[in-house]
Amino acid sequence: MTKDVEFGIKEQLITKEEIQKRLRELGEQITEDFKNENEPLIVVGLLRGSIVFMADLIREIRLPLEIDFIEASSYGEGTQTSREVKILKDLRSTISGKNVLVVEDIIDSGFTLKKILQLLGSRNPKKVSLCTLLDKPERREVEIDVQYIGFEIPNEFVVGYGLDFDEIYRNLEYVGIAEPSVFE
Ligand code: 5GP
Ligand code: MG
Ligand code: MG
Repeated sequence: MTKDVEFGIKEQLITKEEIQKRLRELGEQITEDFKNENEPLIVVGLLRGSIVFMADLIREIRLPLEIDFIEASSYGEGTQTSREVKILKDLRSTISGKNVLVVEDIIDSGFTLKKILQLLGSRNPKKVSLCTLLDKPERREVEIDVQYIGFEIPNEFVVGYGLDFDEIYRNLEYVGIAEPSVFE
């Protein structure tokens, strides 16, 4: 395991190379699944955690596609979950009759995504699919159907590759676990 002392990272959980390899596989799978559709796929990233993953993933999808974003908040500044999910920024696209692929950084309890899926579902899309870079299945509290999962991870708070702690660490090229001192 590589240390990244400068950034206060204890351990690299998923390396840059592992992410790249997995993204190629996910891109191929998504391309295969949507290649016979007539309309462009709308890829919806959940701000802000998904942007690094989404930027790399869309370049592995060999299909015409559009991108859009939703921002919701369910977490405050720390690592504690709160039950409320607020939509801070909504889509610009009309998704009625379209295929939508929601891209998320990590699914933890599942509350955030459940709320967003309800919202998107109410707009009569043809189909809504989900792709998450990371999944913490141990933490799930609401049932969610996820079609594309990058990696299942244990119940640890991770940062990097889009994921933050107090808005820092999103620019790491890997997914890592921060030193305990970071959280003090
Ligand atoms: P959920 O509603 O599934 O509990 O929360 C999902 C959101 O919480 C994620 O999109 C992410 O922003 C945040 N989150 C959950 N687990 C982690 C984690 O281990 N690290 C970071 N940085 N954010 C997390
Ligand atoms: Mg998120
Ligand atoms: Mg966050």
